[in-house]
Amino acid sequence: MDFTLCLTHDCNLRCAYCYAGRKRAGRMSWETAKRAVDFCLEHTLNRAALTGRAPEAQLGYFGGEPLLEWALLQRSAEYAIAECARLGVKLRKTVTTNLTLLDAAKAAWLREHGFYLGLSLDGNAAMHDTLRRFADGRGSHAVCAPALEFFRGPDAGGEVILVLDPRNIMHTADSVAWLMARDIRSISLNPNFYIPWPEPALERWRAAYERIGDLYADAYRNGVPVRINMFDGKIRVRLKEGYAACDKCGFGENEIAVAPGGNLYPCERIVGDDDNAKLCIGNVFDGFDKEKRARIVACRGNAVGECAECAVRDRCMNWCSCINYATTGAINQVAGIVCFHERMAIEAADRAAAVLFAEKNPAFLAKFYGEAGG
Ligand code: SF4
Ligand code: SF4
Repeated sequence: MDFTLCLTHDCNLRCAYCYAGRKRAGRMSWETAKRAVDFCLEHTLNRAALTGRAPEAQLGYFGGEPLLEWALLQRSAEYAIAECARLGVKLRKTVTTNLTLLDAAKAAWLREHGFYLGLSLDGNAAMHDTLRRFADGRGSHAVCAPALEFFRGPDAGGEVILVLDPRNIMHTADSVAWLMARDIRSISLNPNFYIPWPEPALERWRAAYERIGDLYADAYRNGVPVRINMFDGKIRVRLKEGYAACDKCGFGENEIAVAPGGNLYPCERIVGDDDNAKLCIGNVFDGFDKEKRARIVACRGNAVGECAECAVRDRCMNWCSCINYATTGAINQVAGIVCFHERMAIEAADRAAAVLFAEKNPAFLAKFYGEAGG
């Protein structure tokens, strides 16, 4: 089971697109964190017994800003690692951080303990400081960007996450180039679907993906391939002819998020202010609300009739329940903006892949076709 602990409602930033709810002192206690780990491992073992597969779990930390609760993060991670060793559960660990509090000692501890990091940084200063600011209005790029030095090169153990928004989209391609110039090899483009995208912003978005496609191809030509989620993901899914069941998220079934007070939600993006009665599926102390959880699991996915006729339906993320919920209010209905984005991302990825394939780029062929190339 994948479980994410939202350690606090608080954050030292006030990003304009934040979906993590009102910033306030509201931290997870050690008792709740420990119970959350125990609860999730119990369910991991039950699931493994039912499926006959070896037990595996993922422990994620999220917020607010989880590094505000550094001592709790360390203590709960050490507890989970020890429990997994005792119970024979394979454990992956992740943390998503805004980088403001990440120094060399913390980066070394996280690396030593096998964490994969989601580094929230919107690329260059022009893009980042548009929307990622401190409470007093100061841009945070100058504070955040130096921490990138701990994550350079092919074995960085993390990815930089950029949030694409109508207000910063004009800087996105430059930001990707800026990150590549700093030897960042894994980049996630994370669109903000929570607000309207006016027509001119959509045009800029398309132009940005086209240029990022060129940068992606150039990186392969220069022998320093970069993983960009939108490109790698769509290329892989084409080669395997569609998302497999295991690629899709386990929203509420084998993926859960724990709010600071212990309430359970199907995804960390839903936790927000921890007041969503519709999607709260229980509490770590009282267990799952079985009926509600079953209802949510049964209706997640995509119920839009027209999608069944669509040529790219197998490569479309129309099944992402949290994006569907954020954009339409229903976990199985797809918004027009998601449809626009998926078609555009598929086109841009196919264009870059076709060029690299035609050039017989060795790194591209080795990565996606398992060949040495030539
Ligand atoms: S760093 Fe994350 S939690 Fe904090 S304000 Fe920004 S988006 Fe929200
Ligand atoms: S691209 Fe649009 S129509 Fe096609 S499957 Fe995706 S959401 Fe449905």
